[in-house]
Amino acid sequence: MQYRLNYRPYSRRFRQPLLTSHGLWSDRQGILLQLTDAEGQVGLGEIAPIEWFGSESLSQALAFCQQLPEQITIDTIFSIPDSLPACQFGFESAWESLDDSSLAKSNPTLTYSSLLPTGKAALSAWEPLWSQGSRTFKWKIGVAPVVEELQVFTQLVHALPSTAKLRLDANAGLNWQQACTWLEVADSVGVEFLEQPLPVSQFDQMLKLSDRFQTPIALDESVATLAQMQQCYQQGWRGIFVVKAAIAGSPGRLRQFCRTYEPDVVWSSVFETAIARRFIETKLIADLPPPSRAIGFGTEHWFTEDWQASFENVSFQK
Ligand code: MG
Repeated sequence: MQYRLNYRPYSRRFRQPLLTSHGLWSDRQGILLQLTDAEGQVGLGEIAPIEWFGSESLSQALAFCQQLPEQITIDTIFSIPDSLPACQFGFESAWESLDDSSLAKSNPTLTYSSLLPTGKAALSAWEPLWSQGSRTFKWKIGVAPVVEELQVFTQLVHALPSTAKLRLDANAGLNWQQACTWLEVADSVGVEFLEQPLPVSQFDQMLKLSDRFQTPIALDESVATLAQMQQCYQQGWRGIFVVKAAIAGSPGRLRQFCRTYEPDVVWSSVFETAIARRFIETKLIADLPPPSRAIGFGTEHWFTEDWQASFENVSFQK
């Protein structure tokens, strides 16, 4: 079977640049894919790389698309190298979506975590999100000095209703001592988990932290790709895996990993459009046991335009 390939780069501006310990991020850029089979069935996919998170760069992904012929085969899709994980996801998800009948509009078993802005802005940002139904919030730490952040954190914990769940994400921005300080405080007030306290190279120390404190530790940067997930699992990680499916690689092999090892997973966004998001929620996750944790896809409020329905309005005309 041959598939006609069309693709189109996109760029979406964040309402305000996203501040992480990796720096400022102002535009989300990626590539939308369209596969058409001989019967005229269409499958959409999305390549949404984050180079600083361990995937290929946008230009590498674009170069890969550009060297492909107009007609590709199943072999083309399943021979994309592991060095292009976001391309693996984009092409394989487009191919799986050709049978559109199993793609639902939404997955009713999911609950969402909303990302709060970094720093003091979180103190006023949670309330409208709470009114819209959010019950789990994520707040980034490791950006300002610990003392300052702990002050805001204490205010935030007191402001949030007691039924709210709060997750902290350090984006590998803490050292051992800072991580211990945060975990002592987290243990005393109750935090759902602390995400990636230490750099990827300090895997053994993160194992130690998860033994030493009650607050669970989630790996994120350490498990950006499926190969890294497998490696951490083999090295004894039984804590939480934050899975950014759009950059993890082959969705088929990711599903297999989840079925085999049943890891404690937090499905998470890479600020992809509704195309990748719908595939992840209604096809990838829906094929697995319902997730026990809120998924990190509460990100639409971070963009200026509403792309909620974008997968129905994409034009691939050149
Ligand atoms: Mg994270």
